Amino acid sequence: MHFLVQTKSYPDEALESYLLRLARDNSYNGYSELADILWQWLAEQDNELEGALPLALSKVDVYHARQASSFRIRALKLVAQLADVNAGDILALAWRRSNFKFGNLAAVSRNELAIPLELLRTDNIPVCIKCLSESSHIPFYWHLKPYKACHKHKSQLITRCKECYDLIDYRASEAFLECVCGCKITNSEQLNDADFKIAIALASSNSQKIVGLISWFAKVKQLDVSDADFNCAFVDYFNTWPESLTTELDLLTNNARLKQLNPFNKTKFSSVYGDLIRDGQIAATSNRKNKVIDEIISYFVELVDSNPKAKHPNIGDLLLCTFDAAVLLNTTTEQVYRLHQEAFLNCAYSQKKHEQLRADSHVFYLRQVIELQQAFAAEKPLTKKQFIAPW
Ligand SMILES: [Zn+2]
Ligand SMILES: [Zn+2]
Repeated sequence: MHFLVQTKSYPDEALESYLLRLARDNSYNGYSELADILWQWLAEQDNELEGALPLALSKVDVYHARQASSFRIRALKLVAQLADVNAGDILALAWRRSNFKFGNLAAVSRNELAIPLELLRTDNIPVCIKCLSESSHIPFYWHLKPYKACHKHKSQLITRCKECYDLIDYRASEAFLECVCGCKITNSEQLNDADFKIAIALASSNSQKIVGLISWFAKVKQLDVSDADFNCAFVDYFNTWPESLTTELDLLTNNARLKQLNPFNKTKFSSVYGDLIRDGQIAATSNRKNKVIDEIISYFVELVDSNPKAKHPNIGDLLLCTFDAAVLLNTTTEQVYRLHQEAFLNCAYSQKKHEQLRADSHVFYLRQVIELQQAFAAEKPLTKKQFIAPW
């Protein structure tokens, strides 16, 4: 078996788009017809590969394959061989699961870019007609939920079919300019400025800087990235960054003072600020920078400074759990235990002999953690720092 037409991929193309073009160029009705034939052929070459390429285009990307992703890669290499193209060029189009995580969110990566998996569109892929008329392929960034306007043509992407009002998805219709109902996709809506700004950022080499921030903002504001006004809210919030965050934190601080029931040195940090630190981890970039955590740290540095240790406990004496302490110290929970054992950090309660501290037990003073953070991290840390203590 061999394909007669050699289809070259575009560097920014989505894998599904390439496979659909490969099928069409070689006179198949679409991807599913090709996949049907490949299924049998792959199984003959290597019995482990039976079913390694799914029949549905929307399920073909590598990250869908989970444990079987190595078989999926092997199958795609064979497809590249049949098409007489460089396998590396085809594999570079795929999103793969990454070891990196955005806080507790799973990540996928493609070339140099890592994004939270939740930012990939699942049931629709909007399009720009002008782009498709210039070059008939789907760029990968159309698959990103926050990418809603075309950064090249300054026009809103087309999301719905004007005939059946269904969401557009070329992976379902197996045609770039046709809805599943068979109608041609036509004209778009009014350009949204915020969507345009975000589109430019996502298509640039700086996209890494905002993907984590987008998921973080969606989580803390409990918004859906797909909502029409999400990008607008996001842009507004970051236009006044970091005041937007510090104003919110000031409000929580003042509320805690007003509603205080227990002395602050017996109050959990999380009962005042919730999951602030845990959620902040979502805003990470794959090179371990985190704008949100940096801002949170500088907020609490100032809070502790302006509330010095006194006879009566104050807001600087709140209790942090080990997990949050580790994030603020830019280290692991194991290192926090070690800092405790080495008397760098006091524990708020006396422990029983051999008692293990749990990651979620609130035992460390915010003040001490912040002071230690300042002592160790004079310069902004780029990588997860191991504390090198003098022992
Ligand atoms: Zn366009
Ligand atoms: Zn339709």
